[in-house]
Amino acid sequence: MDLTGKMLIGGQAVPGNRDAIKAINPATDQALEPGYPGGSREHVDQACALAWSAFDSYRETSLEQRAAFLEGIAGQIEALGDALVDRAVAESGLPRPRIQGEVGRTCFQLRTFARTVRAGEWLDVRVDEALPERQPLPRPDLRQRHIALGPVAVFGASNFPLAFSVAGGDTASALAAGCPVIVKAHSAHPGTSELVGQAISRAVAAHDLAPGVFSLLYGSGAEIGIGLVSDPRIKAVGFTGSRSGGVALTQAAQARPEPIPVYAEMSSINPVFLFEHALRNRGPALAEGFVASLNQGAGQFCTNPGLVIAIKGDALDAFLATATQAVQRSPAQTMLTPGIFRAYANGLQALAGNAGARVLGAGLEGAGPNQCQTHLFVASAQDFLREPALQAEIFGSASLVVTCEDAAQVLQVAEHLEGQLTATLHLDEADAQAVRNLLPTLERKAGRILVNGWPTGVEVCDAMVHGGPFPATSDSRSTSVGTAAIARFLRPVCYQNFPDALLPAAIQGANPMALSRLVNGQRQS
Ligand code: NAP
Repeated sequence: MDLTGKMLIGGQAVPGNRDAIKAINPATDQALEPGYPGGSREHVDQACALAWSAFDSYRETSLEQRAAFLEGIAGQIEALGDALVDRAVAESGLPRPRIQGEVGRTCFQLRTFARTVRAGEWLDVRVDEALPERQPLPRPDLRQRHIALGPVAVFGASNFPLAFSVAGGDTASALAAGCPVIVKAHSAHPGTSELVGQAISRAVAAHDLAPGVFSLLYGSGAEIGIGLVSDPRIKAVGFTGSRSGGVALTQAAQARPEPIPVYAEMSSINPVFLFEHALRNRGPALAEGFVASLNQGAGQFCTNPGLVIAIKGDALDAFLATATQAVQRSPAQTMLTPGIFRAYANGLQALAGNAGARVLGAGLEGAGPNQCQTHLFVASAQDFLREPALQAEIFGSASLVVTCEDAAQVLQVAEHLEGQLTATLHLDEADAQAVRNLLPTLERKAGRILVNGWPTGVEVCDAMVHGGPFPATSDSRSTSVGTAAIARFLRPVCYQNFPDALLPAAIQGANPMALSRLVNGQRQS
């Protein structure tokens, strides 16, 4: 399990020929060996050629074979043991238990997709049998199944070096759909990426799959990233990161002769609405819960509660007093990269310099480099509505409380919000009508609406939606977490009047795969 500093192209270790990227331990600012020379367009071409040649055989692997492969990846990752945890801790500055938890989440995710693949519901089989006697025209025999889109380019995220990176949710769902995957490693954690890439490559070999099913490339977004998105053999993209990065990749995908879908998860400030009775009955407890959520992972979560909205009054004052004290007690935490720390510091500076916002409190200063100091700001609804800059995401433990005159202004603020991954409601029974008034707006704005909890913590399950209107994501019709994420990498094909022997097994008359199907309008399980 040595780190080689090389890319993995169809299972082969290939050295790059551009400047070497070295991970920086953000807790010490020390560079970590080895260096990872970046790849060039020729490496993109090699990986895409292999992925394309693997596509037809991989997408027709049996459900059992594909599910076993996903489970095999999970087993290979677990076998990496402490070597993986040690490297991920050093590259991310995240605490060891968090990284251990992420290994578990990554493997659980892969196994959950294995279960989804086996169940076969994603094939969404529909059969409309021929009606030769129908008047005025006969109906032909029509059968639909879903097939994989084609090779997928995945951009590993900095803030989840395992669960949203090389073998994370995008890779797992694309492989589950039957798509070969080429990952552009995030430059913040190249060693973690190599270890996980080696694990996937071992699983590819152990399951006798075409080597092009998986490749891992290093290098810059401008060369490797745009190169992948522009390659005609890439048919979809999964991305988690900044708004500017997601928009650039979406535009590159749209500018192709054959445009392709980009599933980019980008920017969300995750509004939290504190309703009148909940605030009055348990304001201080809500304040403690809020600051605990704000501080999780140094606020480097896409679901970080970056905005709180409530009506002015004594109850809100009590909430703010407790929240400010909790913020002032908050220890500093190491951020993921020096770049993310700089972006956080710039975001704080911009907000502090905005005439509409006022600092309520700041956390303890850290001793080492790249320390995130928690910050809480307040602004009036009037200023929030006037100043677009007050809606900008500050990636880290910073949040803004917006104080409203009345319920009508709360609704106005909600209408003014950009698209969000989540909206959180703290309510008591007596708040029901106020919630009903707000809900239609929030349904239009957010992918997940939650009650009396905190948005951080995203369950991997069938019902999860981790998505939302722009700029939360580039395509609000999908989720990047949970089993429904597989749908992003599938498309329907209809077979008309085919002889049964020429049909794929999923839609043959005798239903040899024993799939749940919609036959002549009736569900048959
Ligand atoms: P990032 O800068 O968007 O980078 C993510 C990946 O996309 C990297 O591999 C990067 O390549 C590539 N990329 C970025 N811009 C590109 C472009 N214009 N063309 C082609 N490829 C491009 O994200 P990050 O490094 O993880 O974090 C930077 C900021 O993103 C944070 O400060 C935060 O504001 C935001 N962020 C948000 C979330 C969220 O969930 N909301 C998560 C993570 C980060 P390179 O190797 O060239 O950098």
